[in-house]
Amino acid sequence: MLGRSWVEIDLDRIAENYRICEKLLRPGQTIMAVMKADAYGHGDTVTAKLLQERCGCRSFAVSNIEEAEGLRKAGVDGQILILGYTPLSCASELLEYDITQALLSEEYAQLLLEVAGEKASKLKAQFAIDTGMKRIGLDSSDPEGCEAVIRKFAARFDMTGIFTHIAAADNASEDEFSLGQIKSFIEISERLSDLELPCVHYMNSAAGLRHNTQAVPLSASAFARLGIVLYGLKPDASSLMPGGIKPALAWRSVIAMVKAVRAGESIGYGRSFSADRDMTVATVPTGYADGYRRSLSNKGFVIIAGCRCRVVGRVCMDQLMADVTELQKLIDCGKAPAGALDIGSEVSLLSDEYSADDMAEDISSISYEIICGISKRVPRKYLQK
Ligand SMILES: *Cc1c(COP(=O)(O)O)cnc(C)c1O
Repeated sequence: MLGRSWVEIDLDRIAENYRICEKLLRPGQTIMAVMKADAYGHGDTVTAKLLQERCGCRSFAVSNIEEAEGLRKAGVDGQILILGYTPLSCASELLEYDITQALLSEEYAQLLLEVAGEKASKLKAQFAIDTGMKRIGLDSSDPEGCEAVIRKFAARFDMTGIFTHIAAADNASEDEFSLGQIKSFIEISERLSDLELPCVHYMNSAAGLRHNTQAVPLSASAFARLGIVLYGLKPDASSLMPGGIKPALAWRSVIAMVKAVRAGESIGYGRSFSADRDMTVATVPTGYADGYRRSLSNKGFVIIAGCRCRVVGRVCMDQLMADVTELQKLIDCGKAPAGALDIGSEVSLLSDEYSADDMAEDISSISYEIICGISKRVPRKYLQK
């Protein structure tokens, strides 16, 4: 029996994507697998353990202390870096679970030092450097100042590295800006070379695909913090993906009902769609409460028996309607499986035929937002050989 709405995660594909990325890196570089937001909706503990056990991954990044603790408790035992803010009151959890904390600013580092007290020297930390993102980190336009602050705190915390984030790594017309960011990061890393920090990194997926060149010393690019590409999706619609990378996530639902809609009738809330001809319309029990974006109303597609069917009318909280007129005709003339529109037959919301990249393009979003947005009420099923 099929369910109502569920996600299928192909673990073999995640492992394969990891291996393909690993081969693209330069010798001496390592992947830091980005597991934030429940591994972009794929399930962080299952994904991290898969990468640890099948791919030998020893380095992970998350967005917050709850995610970090969850991975540790599940048995993830490599480095876990929190990329952003952790409440200062959680210093003892950082120590207890051996989590590496990003230092967001000089002030943040000072306060964390104070709450950690005499245990600070055991607290693993990496300084964020702001080379142009204007989000977190020490301002790289003052390299001497950065150096002084990092040296000061390297003497107090267990400082394992520094990192920066490239603002427009996916955009060729911004290459000059990106290269400027990388250059100022290299300068700071070189000033600190005597500290021999093992974890100096600047690449996300897009920078890993486009800016991992010999011009950057390995000492400034020891890790690539890869997220989206491990899940098989593009950092940007324009990104060229390495061969063999495939989306790991498919989202399925079923046919709940099929009905005739006559020319002139409207479909759904607000009557945003009016039939200009007689149509066959299927109702699918997935809606925006499942994370199926309401902006897909009259724009998105679902795939039924290989046939692309347009979403018609507004996406409701728990249901959506799709135009299956053409599919019904194919069934009638024997060119599509007879049961394709039966109650309980499978409908693909995301699949190789219509991926999160395709969906994102249809609603001017990004695949990240689509996959992170699939809500908790949609169960995840894991497939592996
Ligand atoms: C999310 C994130 C990444 C991963 O980005 P992708 O584009 O998914 O590879 C890397 N670094 C930082 C700081 C991030 O916040």
